[in-house]
Amino acid sequence: MPELIQSVRGMNDLLPPDSAKWGYVERRCRELFERHGYEEIRTPVLEHTPLFARGIGETTDIVEKEMYTFTDRDESSLTLRPEGTASVIRAYIEHSLAHREPVSKLFYIGPMFRRERPQKGRYRQFHQIGAEILGRDDPLIDAELLLMLHDFFTALRLEVTIDVNSLGDAVCRPAYRESLRVFGESRLAQLCENCHARLHRNPLRLLDCKEPGCRQVTADAPVFADFLCAPCRDHFARVQDYLRRENVPFALNPRLVRGLDYYCRTSFEVIAQGLGSQNAVCGGGRYDGLVEQLGGPAVPGIGFAIGVERLVMLLQAQAPPRSSPPDLFIAPLGEAAEGRAFSVAHRLRLGGYRIELESGSRGLKAQMRRADKLGARYVLILGENELAAGKGTVRDMQAKSDRPAAIDLALPARAMIEAIYNPSSQPSALSPQPEGAEQDSPGKV
Ligand SMILES: [Zn+2]
Ligand SMILES: [Zn+2]
Repeated sequence: MPELIQSVRGMNDLLPPDSAKWGYVERRCRELFERHGYEEIRTPVLEHTPLFARGIGETTDIVEKEMYTFTDRDESSLTLRPEGTASVIRAYIEHSLAHREPVSKLFYIGPMFRRERPQKGRYRQFHQIGAEILGRDDPLIDAELLLMLHDFFTALRLEVTIDVNSLGDAVCRPAYRESLRVFGESRLAQLCENCHARLHRNPLRLLDCKEPGCRQVTADAPVFADFLCAPCRDHFARVQDYLRRENVPFALNPRLVRGLDYYCRTSFEVIAQGLGSQNAVCGGGRYDGLVEQLGGPAVPGIGFAIGVERLVMLLQAQAPPRSSPPDLFIAPLGEAAEGRAFSVAHRLRLGGYRIELESGSRGLKAQMRRADKLGARYVLILGENELAAGKGTVRDMQAKSDRPAAIDLALPARAMIEAIYNPSSQPSALSPQPEGAEQDSPGKV
């Protein structure tokens, strides 16, 4: 026996019926995002490694430890994208989208790759739904984006709150950072080793630390709200006003910080009920310096990414979206009948009907079991001896009755399906049998 080859650790197969949930989530997303004027962008999963070093930050855990990076045959260093934003901005710059439109609203859906320690709900290939708005920095657009996110989760019948914070800008951030540094220095002994390093690199990250000891120490750390300059304060206040206006539930979270300089002003996380300690299902914020950092024009941006695996986990608690049964199950008996069934199925599918077609080599009993399992209400049985007369037998699985029906391939699909559903309503040489009349064989009409 050859050795069984399994999937790569941390990379999952997505199988039915779970895949239906993913499709459902993606359809809701496309509907809503397109209503807001977003257009889809698809970028490659492979990029040159420096894009992520510059776009995410050389000293982040992602870039330092988690990227799938390899040397290509021409010695260039390539990386499987660990997130979506850097690629979107790279494409935005490369194709000069800024010259085409003053504002670009782009969304993406796709796999991302990080070599994290596999644990429940965390995968090395994971999926994100994300969006970026490039070219606007007014509070209205921030609020519109947050409202859209709220509507997205509500459409999925998920209860969420949005944590928000303002990270200021280049004017007011230095003073806040310095105050955090001084605060941290004075409590050095109580902080973990990671935080010691953070204190020098970026004191804002002290607020990020998950260590209970550090969290306790930083509970009364200075908050950014007290340091915002007047334009940042006004921007943040207006974002909140808009959210209140449409009753979007949100909470101010002064711990919501991000490590890099180009993150500014509105920063947020969507918190879902029922995900436990890792309850953020979406994160994002404003990044006004990133396009320039990657070699593009000075264009402001804001965006978010939703973790699809987590989102689907939340949907598990709900009744699954029911897969609809076929409009008709066709059961041919024998090879000649199979040919006709093949054409009938094609005609009806072209007309928009969902048709299941079985092999004519299977017995009637086996076919009926299958039709029953799929939840088909009507089965069209095509026996060899009915073929010449252009007829078939319709079994109503609910009423448990058989009726003859005329099958005319010259009719439009709609008329064909009506003749099958209601044989009596169609002009036919056959008089319909009374309801409930059982036939011992569908061949005998
Ligand atoms: Zn710490
Ligand atoms: Zn400011």
